[in-house]
Amino acid sequence: MNHLFITIFLSLSFTTIYAQNDEQVVKSLFDEALTSQTAYENLRFLCKNIGGRITGSPEAEKAVEFTYRVMSEMDLDSVFKQPVRVPRWRRGEQEKASIKSYKFGNKKVPVVALGLSIGTGNAGLSAGVIEVQTFEELKELGRKKIEGKIIFFNRPMDPTMINTFGAYGKAANQRTQGAAKAAEYGAVGVVVRSLTTSQDDFPHTGVMKYEKNIPQIPAVAISTNGANLLSNWLNEDPSLKFYFRTACETQGEVTSHNVIGEIRGTEYPDEIITIGGHLDCWAPGEGAHDDGAGCIQSIEVLRLFQKLGIKPKRTIRAVMFMDEEVAQRGGKEYARQAELKKEKHYFALEADRGAFMPRGFGVSATDECLEKILALKRYFEPYGITEFKKGGGGVDIGPLRKFGTPLSSYIPDMQRYFDFHHSGNDTFEQVHFREFQMGSAAIAAFIYLIDQYDL
Ligand SMILES: [Zn+2]
Repeated sequence: MNHLFITIFLSLSFTTIYAQNDEQVVKSLFDEALTSQTAYENLRFLCKNIGGRITGSPEAEKAVEFTYRVMSEMDLDSVFKQPVRVPRWRRGEQEKASIKSYKFGNKKVPVVALGLSIGTGNAGLSAGVIEVQTFEELKELGRKKIEGKIIFFNRPMDPTMINTFGAYGKAANQRTQGAAKAAEYGAVGVVVRSLTTSQDDFPHTGVMKYEKNIPQIPAVAISTNGANLLSNWLNEDPSLKFYFRTACETQGEVTSHNVIGEIRGTEYPDEIITIGGHLDCWAPGEGAHDDGAGCIQSIEVLRLFQKLGIKPKRTIRAVMFMDEEVAQRGGKEYARQAELKKEKHYFALEADRGAFMPRGFGVSATDECLEKILALKRYFEPYGITEFKKGGGGVDIGPLRKFGTPLSSYIPDMQRYFDFHHSGNDTFEQVHFREFQMGSAAIAAFIYLIDQYDL
């Protein structure tokens, strides 16, 4: 590109375009998103000044106050906090773990407590280890071999699956149910291979669940490097011991909030379009991709509309859902309130798949409605955003399904997401400005078009 052309190009793209047609509106949304640092700086604050914010923690409340303040300063039609009771689980002091082998010596390994796990107590837990990949193996081994041992679930996410969310889904039951399954046979603790496609030293946490009438045993995730090491040593020295110490505990419930900001519709103010992400996240990590990005992108949609003078026909809401990670109370309460207030939910979109380059949108709706939405693809092709497909929604907007609301997921590229997901690696530095803002613009454009073309 020659210099003159670049100058003209830049001056054009910095001009606010009062668009004559939808292509131009879409273009101006991208122009504004890619030339404004506002959203990126908001994400930086959420990650760097507040950081890890587990449901029910003081940090989660700081995130509530921060996003409430950001939206209050935007001169929206309404900004409010919706109270919601949430469980409070504290991770406590930094976890410790090591492998103790007569053959190889002692080696510290990185672990993180699984969400809702009980702690080990001060002394920690030390026991022999049995490695398995599946629950069926537990059955074959039986109580006699498992009793008193730590079960090490080491089934990796399948690296050959292009759909990394699919690979995650196929490996996740080790984390969610592993402790209860192993405890059934008398295991005393559980170590789970981190659910990531990356080979590194970050342990990845996530929620787990105990079962009624089955003893509760402590559970941790181990980094993939740690898991490989443990597996290799076990092969050579089956008598080795694993030690870990966790100080996590559940502490009842507290009141937290969903945070909601809205631009009232000009023609159909009673019809609500919800765009949302979740405000809580696991620690360690800053909840940048999961899901600070989705929250800030939702706020950014409102800012983009305001900046370009777009007056939506319907009411557009940005919702910061609380407690997606632990008990999904925020999403449930949002739908409960909607029902109580007899709100009409016209459309909902969830952004909770990281802040990578946008690929498209998934939508669950009636065939007729779906056809209309999939046809919007042509507006996005110039931006390389071409995956418009059937099937969408999300944990937080899921409860709106009972109203017949079309549900949609924002779909960014998914190859790197699980490098960061629920780990100390999910930091602001891992979010690329242009990818993040391409996402904000794509969501804004999608919502703009959904509002324009009656479903
Ligand atoms: Zn998430």
